[in-house]
Amino acid sequence: MESLSGRKKVLEQKPMNFWERMYLPAIFKGMGITFMHMFKKKETIHYPEQEREFSENWRGMHSLKRDEQGRERCTACGLCALSCPAEAITMISAEREKGEEHLYREEKYAATYEINMLRCIFCGLCEEACPKEAIYLDGPIVPADYLRKDFIYGKDKLVEMSITELEALKGSTV
Ligand code: SF4
Ligand code: SF4
Repeated sequence: MESLSGRKKVLEQKPMNFWERMYLPAIFKGMGITFMHMFKKKETIHYPEQEREFSENWRGMHSLKRDEQGRERCTACGLCALSCPAEAITMISAEREKGEEHLYREEKYAATYEINMLRCIFCGLCEEACPKEAIYLDGPIVPADYLRKDFIYGKDKLVEMSITELEALKGSTV
């Protein structure tokens, strides 16, 4: 039957000649191609011993930022979650109590903040939407894991370390 596009080709299966039945020319041709690639620049690297340089606009794991006094910047406004095309962000807000001014910069903060890293497409829209400069995708690659539930990152993984935590870490490594 004539194809609608008119581009249909009927392929004839010709019987193989003597050399084709020997397979040797095809084997040598394949070995020649392999040999040629030995002198070409390698596209692969020995990861994890070697790592590629990331581009300047690289987007990695999110981090929730603190201000210069170590207080969480996020005010749980929800703009990041609204702007997320993958619906990867969920949060529960809470009112800041008296005496917690040193922990949270605004009167409202995210008591729970979760990102599902399996949903995230690292588009960076949450970062752009944030009016408080509270979220940046400036972290490393999200590491591999076995269970889906382990890809839901909470504040324990997302909030950057406080100054005291950093000092304690430095002290333990000295
Ligand atoms: S990077 Fe994009 S997909 Fe990932 S959490 Fe932010 S807005 Fe959603
Ligand atoms: S990270 Fe920014 S946009 Fe998202 S809830 Fe916090 S303050 Fe709002």
